[in-house]
Formats: sequence, structure tokens, C-alpha cells
Amino acid sequence: MKKIKVGVLGATGMVGQRFIQLLSNHPWFDLSVLTASARSAGKKYREVAKWYLETPMPEEVAEMTVVDTAPDAVKKAGGTEIAFSALPAEIADVAEPEFAKAGYIVASNASSFRMEKDVPLIIPEVNHDHLELIKVQQKNRGWSGFIITNPNCSTINLVISLKPLFDEFGIKAVIVSTMQALSGAGYEGVPSMAILDNILPYISHEEEKIQTETLKLLGTYREGQIQPANIKISASCNRVFVLDGHLETVFVELKRPAKIDEVKKAFQNFNALPQKLKLPTAPIPPIVVREEIDRPQPRLDRDAGKGMAVVVGRIRKDAVFDEGIKYLALGHNTIRGAAGASVLNAELLVKQYWKAAQTI
Ligand code: NAP
Repeated sequence: MKKIKVGVLGATGMVGQRFIQLLSNHPWFDLSVLTASARSAGKKYREVAKWYLETPMPEEVAEMTVVDTAPDAVKKAGGTEIAFSALPAEIADVAEPEFAKAGYIVASNASSFRMEKDVPLIIPEVNHDHLELIKVQQKNRGWSGFIITNPNCSTINLVISLKPLFDEFGIKAVIVSTMQALSGAGYEGVPSMAILDNILPYISHEEEKIQTETLKLLGTYREGQIQPANIKISASCNRVFVLDGHLETVFVELKRPAKIDEVKKAFQNFNALPQKLKLPTAPIPPIVVREEIDRPQPRLDRDAGKGMAVVVGRIRKDAVFDEGIKYLALGHNTIRGAAGASVLNAELLVKQYWKAAQTI
């Protein structure tokens, strides 16, 4: 099988490095171009990336020359079919449309276009049918390429855990409080003097992202539009002294009564399209249920399903909501919450919606 050429925009950052880790030796994708800022362009990857991952920098990547984040520079470097974007939002605002206009498929982590009406915001286990928006986007914007996005790193764990509850019991309201890892803020993100011996009870724009993205993700695609889900949702976000892995306490008011065992079964039996299609990055199972009284924990559980599974635990009745349950949900923020999410989106796209699927 001929592999599909892919590139990473913003390849030197926290998420960019995770992309490199996941794309080196990917069975369908051939990592062929890396971009970053003008500060890094023209230099070898090993000279400019502050590699923070536990696995070594892949040798073939270390010797690649980083190029400017521009369609022409990428074309000159050999071109790609899919451009995975790990750019800061303010750079993605301008760069991603340029790539889509130039014919690239942009699979983005940035928040820039997630909530645009004609841009698919996708979790393959949750709303793969929203990929229909690609046609709408191309028609609206006259692009030969397109942008697809994955949600914010806290939203994705939450929504994967909500999906089986939404399908089986219906959901009226959700309250979530997050404890988010440091890597979620990027390499230069939070100064050590601010976070050591501390918790920061504010993350810019995070609560709004969780509240709006959740409703789009659980919304319904109809005639070229997404009708947002009718759920009340409130989020409160905190940065904690953990390297990777966002932990969330979740309170849900269900529409129909459910016993705790039924809720547990709904999580355990959740099996979605990526698992059925056996996509290379799909975790099996997508939701892991821990029975211990003190799990999930970031250090112990973030690598479940190679960092792609959501781990839930402490599932119990809530004392405030009618028909309320509460639990904890944990996901790896730079894998399931970022690079892994984009790679899974691209795998779904290739397998289900793209001509190249014929070759796989
Ligand atoms: P990061 O560590 O700060 O990396 C930023 C990357 O963008 C670097 O490769 C950097 O290259 C490049 N860049 C910066 N300025 C640029 C410019 N003017 N032109 C072109 N490239 C430029 O950030 P990150 O944590 O990886 O986050 C990347 C994106 O993913 C953000 O939009 C973020 O919100 C989103 N995201 C992050 C997470 C997470 O858990 N970290 C989760 C979900 C989504 P240089 O090295 O050359 O500066």
C-alpha cells in the first residue's frame, strides 16, 4: 500500500512532538514535512525542538529540516496531502485557511475554527456524521482543501464519557470541574514559580470552550447545519501541578433514571465506529472503567489505550440533581486531547470519506 504524505505545522511544540511520536511508523501515513516559526525554519529539527517526550526523538525526524509555515514552503519541501496543525490559535487564524485554499486537508488542534458553522468539530466515536460539513465548507469558501478540527483537550474527555449516557439515558444538565495538566499550556506555558505548591483556578477561555464545544459535538447534523444539543452545561477549570493528563469531576442530570450498574455498563459497552473499523489509533475499549475507590489518577491512568482511552471511575449517585450521577474522567491531554485526536480524525476521513480509502 502506498502511504499518504503528511506534514506537521508547528512541529516543534508540545503537541507537534506528540504528532511526531504518533506519526513515525504510522501504517498509513508518511511524515514528510515539518514546519514551525521563522525562528526555527531552515534548521534541523534536533537543533530547534526542546524534546520533552519519554521516547527518544525519532532519528529520521531529527535530521529533517524545518520549513516556514506557508503552503509554498511546504510544497517546495515535497508537499503533503494532510497537514496536521499544532499551531497557536493566533497563527492558525491566518495559516490554516491559506493551506485549505491551497488544496491541503488541514486537521487542526487549534481553537480558531472549531465553532465556525461550516467546520467539522469531530470526535470519531461521537459525531463522525458531522464530516458532511466538509462539502458545505468547500462550497461556502471556494477552497479545494478543507479544515477539520478536534475539540479542546478537556472537552474531548468529557464528551467521550457523556456520549454513552446521552445515547442511553438522555442528558439534561452537566457540571464539570477540571484539574488540568501543565503540558496543556504549551512548553513556555506556566512559570514554575506560579504552579509549584499551588493550583491556578483560572485557564483563559477554557470554560467557554468546554461549554460551547460540547453542545456542537453532541448536536445533530441536518441539511448542512449542526443543531446544538439541548443540555445545560457549566464548567470550572483549574491548572494543577501534573505533567500530562486532565482529570475532571463530572456531575450529570440524566433524563431517564438509571442504576449505577446500568451507567457502568453503558460506559463499558460503548463501542463506536473507529473501533468497528479498527482504525490504527482507535483505543479498544474507548472508555476504561476503574473499580478502585481512588482511580483514575493522572500518573497511573493517562496512558490507557496508548493515551487514547478515557478512564472513568468513582461512578456514584449525585445528591443534588434529580436522576443525578457523578464520576471522574481522565484523558491524556496531548494524545487523546490533541495530536492523537487529529490523527484519529484523519484515519476516519481516509477510511470513510476519501478516495484514498480505496488503497487502504
Ligand atoms: P507550543 O508548545 O507553544 O508550540 C507552538 C508551535 O507553533 C511551535 O512549533 C512553534 O514553533 C510554532 N509557532 C509559534 N509561532 C509561530 C509562527 N509565528 N509561525 C509559525 N509557527 C509558529 O504549543 P502547543 O501546546 O503545542 O499547542 C499547539 C496548539 O494546539 C495550540 O493551538 C493549542 O491551543 C492546541 N492544543 C494544545 C493542547 C495541549 O495539551 N498542549 C491540547 C489541545 C490543543 P517555534 O518552535 O519555531 O516557536
